Amino acid sequence: MSDIPAPPETPAYDPAAVESAWQRRWDERGTNAPSLASGTDPYYQLMMFPYPSAEGLHIGNLFAFTGADIHGRFQRLQGRTVFEPIGFDSFGIHSENFAIKVGAHPATLTPRNVENFRRQLHRAGLMVDWTKEVVTSEPSYYKWTQWLFLQLYKQGLAYKKAAAVNWCPSCKTVLANEQVKDGHCERCDSLVEQRLLEQWFFRTSKYAPRLLDNIATLDWSETTRQAQRNWIGRSEGAHVTFRVADAHDVTVFTTRPDTIFGASWVVLAPEHPLVPQIVTAAQRAAVDEYLERTKTQDVVSRKVSKQKTGVFTGAVAVNPATGHPIPVWIADYVLMEYGTGAVMGVPGHDERDFEFAQTFALPIVRVVAGADADANAPLTEAYAAKSDADRLVNSAHFSGMPVPQAKKAVVAWLEERGSAVPVVNYRLNDWCISRQRYWGPPIPIIYCDSCGPVPVPEDQLPVVLPLIDDFRPDDSGISPLARHDEWYRVPCPQCGIMSRRETDVSDTFLDSAWYFLRYPSADRTDVAFDAALTRKWLPVTTYIGGNEHAVLHLLYSRFITMVLKDAGLIDFEEPFTRFRAHGMIIRDGAKMSKSKGNVVNPDELIDRWGADSFRTYLMFLGPYEEGGDYRDSGITGVRRFLDRIWASVHDSVSTGAVDATVMRKLHATIRKVTDDIPALGYNTAIAAMMEYVNVLRTGERSVHRDEVAPLVQLVAPFAPHMAEQCWEVLGHTGSIFDAGWPTFDPAMLVADTLTIAVQIAGKTRGTVQVGRDATQDVVYAAAMEEPNIAKFVAGEPKKVIYVAGRLLNIVV
Ligand SMILES: [Zn+2]
Ligand SMILES: [Zn+2]
Repeated sequence: MSDIPAPPETPAYDPAAVESAWQRRWDERGTNAPSLASGTDPYYQLMMFPYPSAEGLHIGNLFAFTGADIHGRFQRLQGRTVFEPIGFDSFGIHSENFAIKVGAHPATLTPRNVENFRRQLHRAGLMVDWTKEVVTSEPSYYKWTQWLFLQLYKQGLAYKKAAAVNWCPSCKTVLANEQVKDGHCERCDSLVEQRLLEQWFFRTSKYAPRLLDNIATLDWSETTRQAQRNWIGRSEGAHVTFRVADAHDVTVFTTRPDTIFGASWVVLAPEHPLVPQIVTAAQRAAVDEYLERTKTQDVVSRKVSKQKTGVFTGAVAVNPATGHPIPVWIADYVLMEYGTGAVMGVPGHDERDFEFAQTFALPIVRVVAGADADANAPLTEAYAAKSDADRLVNSAHFSGMPVPQAKKAVVAWLEERGSAVPVVNYRLNDWCISRQRYWGPPIPIIYCDSCGPVPVPEDQLPVVLPLIDDFRPDDSGISPLARHDEWYRVPCPQCGIMSRRETDVSDTFLDSAWYFLRYPSADRTDVAFDAALTRKWLPVTTYIGGNEHAVLHLLYSRFITMVLKDAGLIDFEEPFTRFRAHGMIIRDGAKMSKSKGNVVNPDELIDRWGADSFRTYLMFLGPYEEGGDYRDSGITGVRRFLDRIWASVHDSVSTGAVDATVMRKLHATIRKVTDDIPALGYNTAIAAMMEYVNVLRTGERSVHRDEVAPLVQLVAPFAPHMAEQCWEVLGHTGSIFDAGWPTFDPAMLVADTLTIAVQIAGKTRGTVQVGRDATQDVVYAAAMEEPNIAKFVAGEPKKVIYVAGRLLNIVV
């Protein structure tokens, strides 16, 4: 192997030469491409694939990938077959907007960006199996994303409906609620509007109970599990029906059915279908004006706005508990998409309703009070139930009943009268997968005037995204694809008459909701995923990624996995057995951003220090799950640490004996690193190895190879190129990653000094530190060197008794 630098006496550590040589060798030998069919003890190590931006790899990407890579390499060193794939999340609005900004086409930019990412990822020394790469914007991948859509369609889990959505007039697309910040677009800061559009949805809501219940079985970071629970948002309550205007029924959802006697009004979403039917002539003008005003607002602002607005419809409802007439209002804080699109107003016991009542001078009735409170004391603020001692008041025969009991009893009573049913509600909505944009997989549906919507037959996939110059979105809310007749017009697959293609493309979140299933079968053109490989390699053993985008991505991946299980296509329903969220890297105490000009360029750092030093330094910044503060000065210490290992290996001798103290420290270090890496305690593992190097090199002593060889194995996951080179210098021929992991001898871990208590005339006067083999005379001498002990011993003691390893008893 002429490309590996020949070892002279003590060559200087030259990371650039070592790293490029070993990257080449890994590729040539297929070191990182295990046989998925025959490998034993499979371990699927997944990292979140990046969006290939034009700026190239961000330091945050590298922090994430390095941490996952160390974990994967460690598992391999334990003897497992580790599959560590990567790919590119290259479809989507980010790529498209960037292309528009620089006046280029995403189809030309994307391959260029992907190529740059590949180069950078190669340099970073990841144990990636490049033979299984996926690129979501390539037809070989999105053919199967479209196939996946069809599987959901077949099961009735994909449907189209009109829905009020957030619309960014500048990005000219629909935004998810979490993409709207304070009423503005997260990407471009434009004021977001509301629009009613026909869109494709997946029925995620149907899976809400299962998505929630399964969380308990997952070995995931607790913050991530809690975020999933919150997003799914289960609440128990009731549907309560109010008779409105003598002819219509309005059903509200409430989590506080016990407060029904205090319901002073009913509020409908402005879009509620009943509004036009119940509004009175006198109120029609005011209602119409309010509806116009609502349309200018985005969904998020409507929910969180502090300002209470609304208008009376003129209609009256009957409170099913009291029989009293109460007014029906419309207000923009009620959304048609949530619950039933209608709520009851209980101002005495709900803060928002209290403000609403004050704004519009509506009656406030107290129906809950603390154990000793006066049932008729007027309320100056909403009284939310605070303890189990709270009881109902002013609630007919329920008065005096404790709140928890009343929640059930009131529903049962109303249910008997046909006015309520107990329900469990979930916050999780159906997933809107439609995007009125260009850069995504076309949704494989054809609209035929005679047959209706017809799915594209599976053997006609992919529906190739046409390469068009005019891909900019316009203000129509219709995808640019509709402007391209040669693509848009197509014969119906069923009857052959000229029909129209669906012009929406699907959400990028759909591309990433199944990529882990594709990796093992990435080279297969006949199936989305091979049954045998999937059975063997999935679910993913460990998934490491950021928390910030994790809620939706993980939820959608879990949903898709459950759907495929129900379709009999796979035999598991949770995709990621173990998930760990990593922390974030800041720089000199501040968040890195282009606008602050404090972004670290990984290429420059790797040029200067080498990938191994850079990797190790990133992991040394702090606990991996918390992140750390990047400081330019810090990397020198890590580089010196690797230099010293390099020199120790090259200078090591195989003659003479090992040092007992060094070996004891070595075994303690092996134990520490072995415990820390699987727990992602990378920073403390590195600190332990640094400490060991200090002991190893004490007084620049010459090092025995048995003292340094295991250290090379320990550092290998962090500094893989240098470790390979050192391993070869130590006389090995195969990859260090196939050489196993050093074991420690528990007998070697026993401390080499002991703490001995010293008693004088039966009283403990202090302790001394001695070697574990110390004789009575040595222990006694040590005791007499401690002034606080020696002062109790005047002259020769009568007797000295040493209980080996524990106690020195001096009789005076
Ligand atoms: Zn925007
Ligand atoms: Zn047809």
